[in-house]
Amino acid sequence: MYQANHLAERLCAASIGRDDALFLTHATTGKTTSYGAFFGNAERMAAALSRAGVQPGDRVAVQAPKTVEMLELYVGCVLSGAVFLPLNPAYTPAEISYFLGNASPTLFVCDPANFDALTPIANDCAVAHIWTLGPDGTGSLADARDAEAPGFQAVARAEDDLAAILYTSGTTGRSKGAMLTHRALASNSETLRDVWRFTADDTLIHALPIFHTHGLFVATNITLMAGAAMIFMPQFDADQVRDAMPSATALMGVPTFYTRLLQTDGLAEAARNMRLFVSGSAPLLAETHDQWRAVTGHAILERYGMTETNMNTSNPYDGDRRAGTVGFPLPGVELKICDPDTGADLPRGDIGVLEVRGPNVFAGYWQMPEKTAEELREDGFFITGDLGRIDADGYVHIVGRAKDLIISGGLNVYPKEVEALIDQVPGVVETAVIGVPHPDFGEAVVAVVVPDGAAPVDEGAINAACERDLANFKRPKAVQLVDTLPRNTMGKVQKAGLRKTYADLFT
Ligand code: AMP
Repeated sequence: MYQANHLAERLCAASIGRDDALFLTHATTGKTTSYGAFFGNAERMAAALSRAGVQPGDRVAVQAPKTVEMLELYVGCVLSGAVFLPLNPAYTPAEISYFLGNASPTLFVCDPANFDALTPIANDCAVAHIWTLGPDGTGSLADARDAEAPGFQAVARAEDDLAAILYTSGTTGRSKGAMLTHRALASNSETLRDVWRFTADDTLIHALPIFHTHGLFVATNITLMAGAAMIFMPQFDADQVRDAMPSATALMGVPTFYTRLLQTDGLAEAARNMRLFVSGSAPLLAETHDQWRAVTGHAILERYGMTETNMNTSNPYDGDRRAGTVGFPLPGVELKICDPDTGADLPRGDIGVLEVRGPNVFAGYWQMPEKTAEELREDGFFITGDLGRIDADGYVHIVGRAKDLIISGGLNVYPKEVEALIDQVPGVVETAVIGVPHPDFGEAVVAVVVPDGAAPVDEGAINAACERDLANFKRPKAVQLVDTLPRNTMGKVQKAGLRKTYADLFT
């Protein structure tokens, strides 16, 4: 089915002839959707887009709550040759104005609650159509779909054609639109399906957002490509996820899912028949990995990827899933560790910038050729901006973002090394280590520490641990105690925000 449309053909291959098979159970309403109904609705979405004048290659932007209809729209875009462009519901009107201006979509779909506020913005950006999609799936998008019949003939799309644009989270400067091709999405999800052994017998708990690569391309595409089922949750709720486990086989999450689940009762019993727990999008603490194994008997499988590249590495399905590592490069992905200044390959064990090449890598930033040229080399290697090393057994370790590297008195301090040490101090839950301006050292190391509240954290104990195990230049010049670390929806600690908060500590 859907021949000549590279991605669509692969998304439906496992469910051809299985129209009645279960694709999705909505965790809140209990409503179920079969594969036949899902693809039928995606075809009707594609027909509605075509009727509205959306041409192959046109962008369809959507800022809406997580719904099954949004997945139908995604597949509808693939079928009609449009480029799907999901946006985080947390973005403000000012941010939406930037995205619509930059991407110039033909159609913008928004939450009906934001329709009045966003209509003038979309009009200013010359967006031809503004439709709505509410948390219950209703709105003018669903109306347009319902006016069409299934049976849309998929538009031919080749491997190099764009399927989606995902904007990066933009912690440094403006967000950039990563252009993802049919090849990048199809090849990566097929690889992950195979290495993580997803089949039609699986049921995935889907509690991730679907405006981000993790929930959209990893979780959803793998489920579709395996012909598996998913339990679809509008958002993450630890008790709801635990309660779903006995009816499921796999969970994909960000590290905070796992730390929160560990605080629930009855986890060991609930997880008994699960097959696989995957973590990614932010570093999983080795401690969380160990606790999870102690409680459930399962070793969380940690993988590493990013918006621009989809997934790059994974711990092994069979074999040792090592805490604190992100495993090995995926089949077809080349990964090297390079000197940040010269780009030269570094010897095994050295810390440097990770560069990756493979069919998974994006085609460049939307309308930003100069940014593309800075980060995507002519030979196809993408400069990830992550610092890491490869150990003697070939496991990749991520030590942080290059921009989070601290240079104190001319010497490099890798935050993760200091964070891991302070995390061991009794009474500490977690730590973020940042560099802030310092008149003598250029930057000074500051540790932002979250105490567990049970016992008072002894700053002396933190300093003593650092003095014992760290060279002088790596030791924090200040320790700040806070209740929580600022995180984005994907669980990433917002270090840029912390740097701002503590910018004046020494000046
Ligand atoms: P995003 O583009 O939002 O998916 O963010 C990608 C970034 O998240 C990567 O460049 C890494 O810095 C970080 N990241 C993703 N997975 C991991 C992981 N398993 N361990 C550490 N950092 C990760």
